[in-house]
Amino acid sequence: MSFQHRWHDGEAIELTTKKVVCAGLNYALHVKEMNSKAPDTEPVLFIKPATALQDLHAPLCIPKDRGAVHHELEIALLIGRRLSQCSAAEAVGAVSGLGLALDLTLRDLQTELKKAGRPWEKAKGFDGACAISHFVPISQCPPLDNIDIALSVNDSPRQQGNSRDMLFPIPSLLCAISEYFTLEPGDIVLTGTPEGVGPLSGSDQLSMSLGQVLQFTTRVAP
Ligand code: ZN
Repeated sequence: MSFQHRWHDGEAIELTTKKVVCAGLNYALHVKEMNSKAPDTEPVLFIKPATALQDLHAPLCIPKDRGAVHHELEIALLIGRRLSQCSAAEAVGAVSGLGLALDLTLRDLQTELKKAGRPWEKAKGFDGACAISHFVPISQCPPLDNIDIALSVNDSPRQQGNSRDMLFPIPSLLCAISEYFTLEPGDIVLTGTPEGVGPLSGSDQLSMSLGQVLQFTTRVAP
């Protein structure tokens, strides 16, 4: 069965996600905390399968006994129109809604795989690795270049960011993605995480917001 997306008023979204395309290293301070090098001409991209989706409003299932599971809070874009080799204007017109995602990452495994020069899909694409919120219709959202996001864990602030700090802003990110991967209606794009990533534990309470339009609390399953 495919994942049922919803608008923030609860109405079902009649689109099916076939893939989630994600940007890595899209905020300078996160690049720094990862001791990594900023991408220069093209964004770092990877894909999570549709089977990685889980509902961010339900108690969050995280893998046990696989080392540290990190939260990466990200702005999620719901794609409403097909995009291939697109212009910036087409890209902007194809975003139907904004939501929040946790790009859940098996950090120890990722570090191990990176060190060995191997692909790190297992660390980012496992079942449940893309926790996704409800979406807010784009007409109700702040402009794409000024979206605040924040995450607190057990009432302490962990991540805060604004889309204006993206190394590849949303329109150019979508264009770059569409050069390699056709985006289809229902596909989701994760736009990268600001600094402050860290481990989650069972029963953690999470508070998240996207500007003034999406605010909620959820928790990690015990
Ligand atoms: Zn990420």
